[in-house]
Amino acid sequence: MMKIRSRFLLVFSFTLLFGLGLTLFEAPEAKAYNFDRVLKEGSSGADVQEVQIRVAGWAADSPSQTYVKIDGIFGPGTKAAVKRFQKAYGLTDDGIVGPATAQKLNELERSTGTKHFSYSEFYSKDGSGFSGGKVPEATVKENVRRLMYKLEALRVKVGNKPITINSGFRSIRHNGNVGGATNSMHLYGIAADISISGVSLSTVKSTAKTSGFSGIYNGSSFTHVDSRVEYPYGSQSWWWN
Ligand SMILES: [Zn+2]
Repeated sequence: MMKIRSRFLLVFSFTLLFGLGLTLFEAPEAKAYNFDRVLKEGSSGADVQEVQIRVAGWAADSPSQTYVKIDGIFGPGTKAAVKRFQKAYGLTDDGIVGPATAQKLNELERSTGTKHFSYSEFYSKDGSGFSGGKVPEATVKENVRRLMYKLEALRVKVGNKPITINSGFRSIRHNGNVGGATNSMHLYGIAADISISGVSLSTVKSTAKTSGFSGIYNGSSFTHVDSRVEYPYGSQSWWWN
């Protein structure tokens, strides 16, 4: 009787430790959206919207004032962006989201953000995280999520070079401290000031112009990118300098 109980305890402890070990070594956790049907032109729904968010950085082949509408309707613009994504990731570029494309899209997702970007990189530098801006914290987080997917595309286009986020979301207080514009797009989590080591500012700018960004500006050592046309936060007109 004693023997059985101790063996049970041994197995139980092993299972517990093994389980704990897995949990510890898994961070940052891979996350996956459940794309459970084939999506193509004519499809609509929340899953189409998730595709649009993930391919939004593949808006154009050459600088063009266009963007992928995140409306859950799989139209020609979404199809063209899916094709560009597929081509870039070595998939058959048929513009249809089947299992292989869904898997590639999911490989970019993390519980902490996307494959190459973490939410924390976009936190307001005054320690307020995503709070204290012009929209609720949850809205900022969702806006930043969408921004990160565009930056994933930009990253691929410049040769898979790491992108440094110099400034992401800014609280109203922090924006004031750094002398930002009164209605800066940073206050909503839809803007980032980026730099890419080894890539010229003009290349970053022209590449951003193929990635669905509608506000683009080169500073002395960084490129500002935002999605002002897509959100009701400002003038909603293109601002390319
Ligand atoms: Zn900026």
